[in-house]
This record gives sequence, C-alpha cells and structure tokens, in this order.
Amino acid sequence: MTCIFCKIIDGSIPSKKIFENDELIAFHDIHPIDKVHFLITPKKHIENLIACSEGDKETLSNMLLLAPQLAKELGLKGFRTMINSGVEGGQEVFHMHFHVYGGSSKLAKI
Ligand code: AMP
Ligand code: ZN
Repeated sequence: MTCIFCKIIDGSIPSKKIFENDELIAFHDIHPIDKVHFLITPKKHIENLIACSEGDKETLSNMLLLAPQLAKELGLKGFRTMINSGVEGGQEVFHMHFHVYGGSSKLAKI
C-alpha cells in the first residue's frame, strides 16, 4: 500500500488529527497555505472527485458539512475550500481530500 493518506488513516504515518469517525478523518496540512489549513478525507480510498459515483453522495455531503463545523472549532469565521482533481487539476495526493483554509483577511480574489 503506497497511498500516504491511507497510511495516515491506519496510523502508520503521524498526523495532526482534528477529527475522526467511522467514515472520515481530518488533519492539518503539513504545508499550510494560510493561518489554518486542514484536509478532510474519507477513510475509504477514493482517488478523487472524478472517481466518485452515486454511491459516494452521502460521504461527499458529510465531508462538506464537516468543513464549517471544524473551521468554527478552529476559530475561523470564514474559510476557503479547494478540491484538486486529477493531474491537470493540480492533485498531488491521489486519495480524495477537501482542503479547508482561512484565517487571513488578505486572500487574493479568484
Ligand atoms: P493536493 O494537491 O490537493 O493533492 O494536495 C495534497 C496536500 O497534502 C498538500 O497540500 C500537502 O501539503 C498535503 N500533504 C502531503 N503529505 C502530507 C502529510 N503527511 N500530512 C499532512 N498533509 C500532507
Ligand atoms: Zn488512500
């Protein structure tokens, strides 16, 4: 098994964990791009959004709903989400994850 996020999920690689239940895990990004930057990922290995299907609907909505909950717990009043999908989408770790980051009021508009 070579997937780095699967290794974080099974505990063989350490992480700064924020949240965990049967379905999802969230941990701080190792290279934060804002004051707070964490990742939400399903425990099930799904490559990315491109690989998702109808059966992943509930997991996807649970991931989205977890973002504001954890952001609030970490003191954020607002945040950005980013989901990189595929090489052409800038994805580097091929285990689906939602980036959630914020804390700076000087973010570039995109
Ligand atoms: P992406 O380009 O969306 O695939 O982003 C992968 C993210 O995973 C990057 O922001 C990395 O900094 C982050 N990352 C890689 N390895 C680790 C790790 N061991 N612990 C936490 N975050 C990581
Ligand atoms: Zn994986």
